[in-house]
Amino acid sequence: MHWADVVAEDLKSRGAHHIVATGITPSGPIHVGNMREILTGDIVARAARDIGLDARLVYIGDTFDPLRKVYPFLPPEYSEHVGKPLSEIPCPCGSHNSYAEHFLEEFLDSLNVLGVEVEVLLSHKMYEEGRYAEATRRIIEGRERIREILVNVSGRDLPDGWFPYTPKCSSCGRLNTTVVTGYEYPYVYYRCRCGHEGRADIRKAEGKLPWRVDWPARWWFLGVTVEPFGKDHAASGGSYDTASRIVKEIFGRDAPYPVVYEWIQLKGKGAMSSSKGVVVSAVEMLKMTPPEVLRFMIARTKPSRHIDFDPAWGILNLVDDFDRAERIYYGLETAEDAEELKRSYELAQVNPERIPEKMPHQVPYRHLVTLVQIKPSFEEVLATIKRTEGFEGELTPEEIERIRKRCQAVKYWLSKYAPMEVKVTLHPDPPQEAVKMLGEERVRALRVMREALSSIEWTAEMIHNTIYEASRKEGINPKRTFEAFYMIYLGTTRGPRLGYFLSTMGRDAVLERIEKALDMVKGDGKG
Ligand SMILES: [Zn+2]
Repeated sequence: MHWADVVAEDLKSRGAHHIVATGITPSGPIHVGNMREILTGDIVARAARDIGLDARLVYIGDTFDPLRKVYPFLPPEYSEHVGKPLSEIPCPCGSHNSYAEHFLEEFLDSLNVLGVEVEVLLSHKMYEEGRYAEATRRIIEGRERIREILVNVSGRDLPDGWFPYTPKCSSCGRLNTTVVTGYEYPYVYYRCRCGHEGRADIRKAEGKLPWRVDWPARWWFLGVTVEPFGKDHAASGGSYDTASRIVKEIFGRDAPYPVVYEWIQLKGKGAMSSSKGVVVSAVEMLKMTPPEVLRFMIARTKPSRHIDFDPAWGILNLVDDFDRAERIYYGLETAEDAEELKRSYELAQVNPERIPEKMPHQVPYRHLVTLVQIKPSFEEVLATIKRTEGFEGELTPEEIERIRKRCQAVKYWLSKYAPMEVKVTLHPDPPQEAVKMLGEERVRALRVMREALSSIEWTAEMIHNTIYEASRKEGINPKRTFEAFYMIYLGTTRGPRLGYFLSTMGRDAVLERIEKALDMVKGDGKG
């Protein structure tokens, strides 16, 4: 059974209504691990709905967390904001309402593209609205018991003045500079390093719960029943263990069902170290990967297994894997793990309500990578696809949309992450320098091709076979023939799959290109 269906069955035994919680502290660009978290949550929620459960997905932005330090991507002036809540710090680019919004907005927008339906909850708003009030009172009043739990379960000592609530200084606005001096509901009294003394009303956004008690508090007042989280929280004595005890003993309910996920590792990190300013964020990941394929990557991998994300060659293999799962789903291919792949394919759909009856037209991704580079417009890419062998009928609007999204992903990938080997520059005419370098054997190869290609059926396969057969017949190494074509089109000796490449050019244009190159060779000889 697919891992998400196993989770859904477990949830069914616990009840019919579920709240799946996910979230992030938006202190910087949202990293790829968080993409795994939200998609894991969405996939679990969908699997639960598929067996008749009611499941809602929420995303909690910890916007009221303090800025911990001046991160390398921030200007030095941000040192004055360290300790203030992210919701009360100015946005680094100037176009958002706050620092928190700056980092959250783009990520939350990307969730639409992925078909993730989620209710977004911002912690500073929840404090402002008093949603934390009762939980905070219970935490503060149960602080002796909580202290015991934290010390016993996590095995770490707590300082003498430890208090499970951090007041925000009403004078300097910081959360990390206050010391609690007293409590009398609803006020926590404090003294700040800035010299200010005051009181924070726990029913308002005048302070916050620290992480270890915040987690069980929100489980309780939001009614969270299932939550994916990174393995760092799952360690023995870690925050899930302590929060489970606190939610039981202070709030009298069970901890949510845990879905612990492993990290997404970026391959080839050396080449994209943050010192060079290239970091792959969750949004970047979506820009370079078609949305259904990104969902598929998360869906097909058990959360407990790590994922290698290779932004260079890996994308090509990933899309190929998705396309294969699609062929298996539609019964065109089989595999040992066919059932799991079919389910992963379903869960990868951006719109699960609309899986078409007939398999969408597949364009091999590697071909698309070439087409995007040699065809100046999307219309021409489409026209070429329709001319390609094996294509029948018309493209549906959904198919066109999918190809459009894939072209966008390919373009972004080519601009930032694609390996040199897949990049091609199509020259409008045979480049002079390359023509000079052709040499006798390659020139002969072009003459042979001018004849051989003039009357064959114009398909990628026929072109490919003809290049081999006609070259060999004339005693030419086929490798030289391939090189000759790359040289007169791209100015290099290597390139994309030639049969397909030439088929997209059209016969007349190919013959004309050969003619031009041969003329240039002649002209060169005379000179
Ligand atoms: Zn202060």
